[in-house]
Amino acid sequence: MSAVANFDRALARARRDPDEPQPLCEGRPDEFTPDVPPSEKEAKALCADCPLLAMCKEAARGRAEWGVHGGIVWLDGKQWHWLARFGLLSGEYEQYNIDQN
Ligand code: SF4
Repeated sequence: MSAVANFDRALARARRDPDEPQPLCEGRPDEFTPDVPPSEKEAKALCADCPLLAMCKEAARGRAEWGVHGGIVWLDGKQWHWLARFGLLSGEYEQYNIDQN
């Protein structure tokens, strides 16, 4: 089973059954898919205590999404801070300065 499918199943189980490990990001889109990228430290702290962290981080590489997943800021399956560090950001994300993050 792929990492994405694995994580999606865990998420579905969590939504069906409150006794299953629960993702800390549920219902908090402003923090996990913010307009302004959080710092690496902030992203790590957001997910630090999540029981799905390892599974979520693994799945994030296979998703074309923006936001914090597994304690890392992702943009289309790539780590946002790496893209910023190497000057590989384009479009709306170019405006954020890595020095501020
Ligand atoms: S690791 Fe972070 S983004 Fe992933 S499910 Fe947990 S809280 Fe949500």
